[in-house]
Amino acid sequence: MTRRRPVVAIDGPAGAGKTTVTRKVAAELGYLLVDTGAIYRSVALSAKRHGLDFADAGAVGTLAQALAERSAIRFAASADGGQRVLLDGDDVSTAIRTQEIAEGASLVSAIPAVRAALLDMQRRAGLPGGVVLEGRDIGSVVFPDAEAKFFLTASVEVRAVRRKAELEARGEPADLEVIAREVRERDHRDSTRPVAPLTQAPDAVLVDSSGIGIDEVVGRIVAHVREVERRLASPA
Ligand code: C5P
Repeated sequence: MTRRRPVVAIDGPAGAGKTTVTRKVAAELGYLLVDTGAIYRSVALSAKRHGLDFADAGAVGTLAQALAERSAIRFAASADGGQRVLLDGDDVSTAIRTQEIAEGASLVSAIPAVRAALLDMQRRAGLPGGVVLEGRDIGSVVFPDAEAKFFLTASVEVRAVRRKAELEARGEPADLEVIAREVRERDHRDSTRPVAPLTQAPDAVLVDSSGIGIDEVVGRIVAHVREVERRLASPA
């Protein structure tokens, strides 16, 4: 379809700085932000609250379908300019950020029925354009026709250090070795699953944030999107 403002896809592994970067990019561009990881995390939290095993494909698939049908997962603006995640109206923004739910999200997101149930929700959110979607398979599966695609990554070591700082800031004690192992395991699971694995779309711009600051990463992405905006505004 022809959009006047682009769909911006930002994919990459855990801990590459995606959440911070996408939030700043969306704010600078004045675009809507869709954090698809938060959607998978909300499914995992709901599964936990229902006492389901994260790996129970049948039960979690049915749950995801039901959540999608009643639009149970929503985003709302928070007072600090960030975003709140609502699950059946309940603010779960903090509850979905624990290590247990991160692991759960990685497991439930490998279930094909869960991915299928959440696909439409993500497409509807991005369709009009002027939207930044953050995830693992946005440029490859959800919006293969996105006008601006980025694959944001960093070395395992850098990502583990960032994760440790994040967990400690929330008062969760963290061991660097253990975190690095978890980062590797999650990467492996996310990139080897049969459905919609974590992968760099061939036409995505690779941004490695290992040696550069967040603001520089944001600057590069925003500059590229502005170019795309100009192209869409005056098609050749
Ligand atoms: O990005 P975040 O860490 O919040 O994502 C949590 C988990 O959800 C990831 O480890 C990944 O397994 C899954 N996910 C996914 N596809 C997406 C976004 C997240 O499979 N588009």
